[in-house]
Amino acid sequence: MSTPIRVTVWGEFRHEKKNPKVAEIYPDGMHNTIAGFLGKDADITVRTATLDEPEHGLGGSVLDETDVMVWWGHMAHKEVSDEIVAKVKTRVLEGMGLIVLHSGHYSKIFKSLMGTTCSLKWRESTDKERLWNMMPSHPIMKGIGDYFEIPQEEMYGEPFGIPAPDELLMVSWFTGGEVFRSAATWYRGYGRVFYFRPGHETYPTYHQDEVQTIITNAVRWAMSGVRIPDVCPNSPALEPLPEDPEAASRSKIGHK
Ligand code: ZN
Repeated sequence: MSTPIRVTVWGEFRHEKKNPKVAEIYPDGMHNTIAGFLGKDADITVRTATLDEPEHGLGGSVLDETDVMVWWGHMAHKEVSDEIVAKVKTRVLEGMGLIVLHSGHYSKIFKSLMGTTCSLKWRESTDKERLWNMMPSHPIMKGIGDYFEIPQEEMYGEPFGIPAPDELLMVSWFTGGEVFRSAATWYRGYGRVFYFRPGHETYPTYHQDEVQTIITNAVRWAMSGVRIPDVCPNSPALEPLPEDPEAASRSKIGHK
């Protein structure tokens, strides 16, 4: 048996406390629903962390012990400390995977890793979402057909202010006519980043099979298996180098 993938599901966990409709769909919070289906996989060990815990639940050795982080935030992006965001970013660059869900498009960590606005069009109405599979050969799309539908979702529309994805896996169509790049990957440093659009808090999206399959597949894909701290070393030659005829005069000039 292979070493389990250590996942931390980070949830803002505010809507669930304030909005009874959200609490009804996710009585233990969206983070626990997501952790619940991920934890059923024998290859995954899962913990959760939330905004209102000390250091947002990401202090101590949590980041050291995380191979892949899942991030859902919305109403309190600004309350996430810059210091914690910097630590998470460093871990991504070292090789930690990051899966950003839905309104996490506007989180500090996603915006920082993308380097762009990450803005989009949105509408909370009666749209259905149809997600088209652009890359059936990709490991994150395993078990997903040509398309699947979410009966009710918030609309996100283009233009989406992201850098061109390294891989575009899904494009969504909404009843109102818009389209959106709804599943995409980027490599940042040694880390792998996946953005997945669905998951508005007032709909039971994270209870849907296809959504659970994609997030579980994404955890496997995002596990890089490396941790490479940032260094910028002066490097001795591996082979004897020919003598440099100008070295003597360079050192003379240098010591004038
Ligand atoms: Zn939303």
